Amino acid sequence: MNTEKVDVLVIGAGPAGTVAASIVNKAGFKVKIVEKQKFPRFVIGESLLPRCMEALTDAGFVEAVEAKGFQKKFGAKFVKNGVICDYFFSDQFTDGWNWTWQVPRSEFDKTLADTCESMGIPVHYETTVTDIKFNGSDSITTVEDIDGNQTQIEARFIIDGSGYGRVIPKLFNLDKPSGLPQRKALFTHTVDVKRNLFEEPNRITIVVHKPGVWVWIIPFSSGVTSLGFVGDPDFFAGYEGADDEAKLRSLIAAEPYLSERFKDVEFVFEPRILQAWSSTTNTFHGEGFVLTGNVTEFLDPIFSSGVTLATVSSQNAAKLVVRKLNGEDIDWETEYTEKVMQGVDVFRSYVNAWYEGTLDTIFFSGTFVPEIKNQICSVLAGYVWDQQNPYVKNHDTAIKKLARIIKLGEQINSPV
Ligand code: FAD
Repeated sequence: MNTEKVDVLVIGAGPAGTVAASIVNKAGFKVKIVEKQKFPRFVIGESLLPRCMEALTDAGFVEAVEAKGFQKKFGAKFVKNGVICDYFFSDQFTDGWNWTWQVPRSEFDKTLADTCESMGIPVHYETTVTDIKFNGSDSITTVEDIDGNQTQIEARFIIDGSGYGRVIPKLFNLDKPSGLPQRKALFTHTVDVKRNLFEEPNRITIVVHKPGVWVWIIPFSSGVTSLGFVGDPDFFAGYEGADDEAKLRSLIAAEPYLSERFKDVEFVFEPRILQAWSSTTNTFHGEGFVLTGNVTEFLDPIFSSGVTLATVSSQNAAKLVVRKLNGEDIDWETEYTEKVMQGVDVFRSYVNAWYEGTLDTIFFSGTFVPEIKNQICSVLAGYVWDQQNPYVKNHDTAIKKLARIIKLGEQINSPV
């Protein structure tokens, strides 16, 4: 069996893996990425948040992504029964990026991986991690290529950015169930020929279809638009349709906000289903490894937090790995896990508030104080580490309190 030696082995060439690899490589360490699939490959997660631009900048990716001409995204629009709540990132409370992109992930992720290669980082595609043995913080990882050839990679540290593959949690039994209820998505890409008659493409639109069921509309610069329904698995079970395409078409027909624009549109691919995506692990680090991106904790797609949490966790992890390889002692729990969980926990409060209907009360009340709206806008832009923002600092209580005040105001103002 061939043997190779690197300082850092990165598992996965998604946003998490590539951001981490680039930052460690820039610090002068020898890095290699192993990636199970051949790129470009499909993965869901197409609407980015402004906060991820800081991680992409740190990794040196922004110029290459900009050159691809992806659709720029300046905000988010929420719609319920024809009532619209618009957020523009330019109005947000936190200083930072006020735009980002909406991307077909196959092209976006390939751009990041190609940029890594152009920096001199080898990316081995169609190469799957099958085994890892740790000896202290040193490790020997066995990988297998598409022809069944095995190689052993000796590394001083491993960064696991394997996303839904969850390599280290699975190999070492670290996975634990997420506390969130299981949800399901049915989605496709559409040839959005009527787009200009309906709305500008420069933001994500989220449509509240029924309590607990919502739709994403994510236009790309190519004229194709990503469209997906998310909800309780029982909701889909109750829908008519011989196959997933028929089911999605009847769902579109049943939602007034979508029916005219997406009626009879061409689907770019047969609708796909994803479900039970929420997951977490007992630990985000161990001697010789750190988990980043989706391998840590992924909650729910509602606020497009996935790629932002993936890139920001990797940005932090990579800097800690560099310090560790330079001989520093790292308190991983304080410097890594707690920071990642700060962001995850803010999003968790908003995800729960969304499915409980608390955010509906706030978003569609029509009595939204601009200062508060700007603070919530920063959360939606991914600035979930800004402790100056009361809607970050008191994430668990602030939105509930606000919804109560709005409801009270509605009661007081309602005719007797
Ligand atoms: P990934 O992008 O999954 O990359 C991991 C890579 O590791 C893959 O390429 C995989 O092939 C590779 N790998 C796996 N196993 C192995 C192995 N054994 N050996 C080698 N390589 C391996 N996020 C957003 O930001 N915006 C959205 O709009 C959004 N919408 C979503 C909608 C749905 C329905 C769902 C379920 C998720 C959504 N997400 C969204 C979340 C998003 O998909 C993820 O958070 C994001 O892709 C995580 O990036 P990552 O780099 O951690 O993992």
